[in-house]
Amino acid sequence: LVPRMQEFGETIFAEMSALAVRTGAINLGQGFPDVAGPEAMLEVAVEAIRAGEDQYPPGPGLPELREAVAAQRLGRYGLEYDPASEVFVTVGATEGVAASVLALAGPGDEVVVFEPYYDSYAAVIALAGAVRRPVTLRPAGGRFTFDPDELRAAVGPRTRLILVNSPHNPAGTVFTRAELETIAGLCREHDLTAVTDEVYEYLTFDGAEHIPLATLDGMRERTVSVSSAGKTFSVTGWKTGWVTAPARYVRAVQTVKQFLTFAVSAPYQRAAAYALGNELAWVEELRASLQAKRDRLVSGLEAAGFAAYRPQGTYFVQADIRPLGFDDGMDLARALPGKAGVVAIPTQVFYDHAEAGTHFVRFAFCKKDEVIDEAVARLARLG
Ligand code: PMP
Ligand code: GLN
Repeated sequence: LVPRMQEFGETIFAEMSALAVRTGAINLGQGFPDVAGPEAMLEVAVEAIRAGEDQYPPGPGLPELREAVAAQRLGRYGLEYDPASEVFVTVGATEGVAASVLALAGPGDEVVVFEPYYDSYAAVIALAGAVRRPVTLRPAGGRFTFDPDELRAAVGPRTRLILVNSPHNPAGTVFTRAELETIAGLCREHDLTAVTDEVYEYLTFDGAEHIPLATLDGMRERTVSVSSAGKTFSVTGWKTGWVTAPARYVRAVQTVKQFLTFAVSAPYQRAAAYALGNELAWVEELRASLQAKRDRLVSGLEAAGFAAYRPQGTYFVQADIRPLGFDDGMDLARALPGKAGVVAIPTQVFYDHAEAGTHFVRFAFCKKDEVIDEAVARLARLG
């Protein structure tokens, strides 16, 4: 393994899901739903396979999906993108983010990320030979946020990119307009490009509004936005995502993407295009049901003795383990199947300043109510 990748072992999601399988514990670790996506959408994928759509689709994606994405960005956010030159399709948001970072940051360039960060960000920044500059999200008033001065201090002459994930996994924060203005102001001042990961764009609660960074003044021209079908339509295994950006960025990102995977499975593209156009009422039901599941899990975790942070979006809860007398989330996560028959994710692996996250574990609530209830009943025996 090349030196720049040596700090990266097996992902925490693989480790913890394997632990769940090995022990039979309830898996509230890796975030994937346990109910299917909309029936008619699944049928579109099946039909496409039956119709023989088995060969390479066009590299930039099927026109049908690119048009559906452009219509979604316009209809929901008022953002106009030309489907032919400003939208393209990727193997999930993961490849969208990876291709963007590889295309836009080179050796020695600095990339600002908010920690805890989604694990693939650190790895892909390392693959690019670039350097990550983490800005820590800390609890304040019941949610995780950043100190604008710390963000300002993280931007320097070598900064090329800022990676912005909102709604944020794993912190659960939906950045406010004021927070986004702070980020946008720095981008404008220092001529930075923003890469936004918006995979949880529909999964926000209590009226929290997802505001794409590209909608802020002067930001459309310097933002590469990434999203995917996985979370919105409960098909995390489909790995079908997209990038929307000004044409010069799309050309750059596509140059990289074409040599990573060239194209994306056609049947899933068809189904995602259908879903974006036809299944948003289903998504609203999913959102409402997730909000109730969030409250169910938060109450259960509190009853079990954790200090839980009620997320504004995503399907994850951060739980502080110190009230239960534990102090290291990694040790607890590894012991939890034995102690309680539950699997969680130790949040510390998503930090450079590990001490800021040592005492958090992340629980997923995209699960059937009875699964959540059984998990919290088991966790209640911990204290
Ligand atoms: N970004 C974030 C913040 C995520 O939580 C995830 C996990 N689903 C992804 C990207 C990956 O998305 P995809 O499966 O579309 O690659
Ligand atoms: N996004 C999922 C999570 O945060 C994990 C995806 C993966 O396994 N890489 O749980």
